[in-house]
Amino acid sequence: MPNVLKEVLSANATYAASFGPKGNLALPPARRFAILTCMDARLDPAKYAGLSEGDAHVIRNAGGRASDDAIRSLVISYKLLGTREWFVIHHTNCGMEFFTDALMRDLLARSLETAELSAQGFRDVGKGPGSTEAQFVDWLTIADTAQAVVDDVSRIRRHPLVPKSIPIYGYIYDVKTGKLVEVAAATQVGRAT
Ligand SMILES: [Zn+2]
Repeated sequence: MPNVLKEVLSANATYAASFGPKGNLALPPARRFAILTCMDARLDPAKYAGLSEGDAHVIRNAGGRASDDAIRSLVISYKLLGTREWFVIHHTNCGMEFFTDALMRDLLARSLETAELSAQGFRDVGKGPGSTEAQFVDWLTIADTAQAVVDDVSRIRRHPLVPKSIPIYGYIYDVKTGKLVEVAAATQVGRAT
C-alpha cells in the first residue's frame, strides 16, 4: 500500500477508536455558522476558528472563492441546515495570487503534469500533450487579497438565493501569525439588513 494511504487509514483507526459520543451528533451545525475558506494546506479552520465536530460548515476551494458551487453549498447551509452567519476567509501568500487565467491555460495546453514554482512563477517541466479545455474554466485567481474578499462577500450578498438577514464577515488569515485580520470593507458590504 502506498505510504500516504497507509498513514491515513492508520490515523483514522486511531481517531475512530476514541470516537465516543460524536456518533450522536445532529446533522445541522450546532453553532449555526459557515466558513468559506481556501484549501491551502497551512489553514486548519477547525483550529484557527475553534471548531469541534458538529459545530459549523466549512466550505473549501482554491482561494476560498465565492464560486457558483460555493454559493450552492452556502444556500444549502442556510436553507436546509439553519446556519445564520457566514465567514469568507482568504489568506496571505495564497497560491491563487501567483498565476492568471492566461498562464494556467498556457500551462495546461502544454502539459497536464505538475508545473514547477520558481521565483519567476510557475513554469512547465512536464511532458505533453496538454489540453485546451482549460480555456473554458474561470480559474478565479486573485490579484489583490483584500479586494478578493470584498468581491466574494459582495457576490454572495447580492445573490438572489441569499437572504439579506445573514451577516457575512470578511477576513484574511495571516499564514505567518495564525491571526484572522478583518477586511472591514467586506464586512461592511456583507452586513445584514
Ligand atoms: Zn489559498
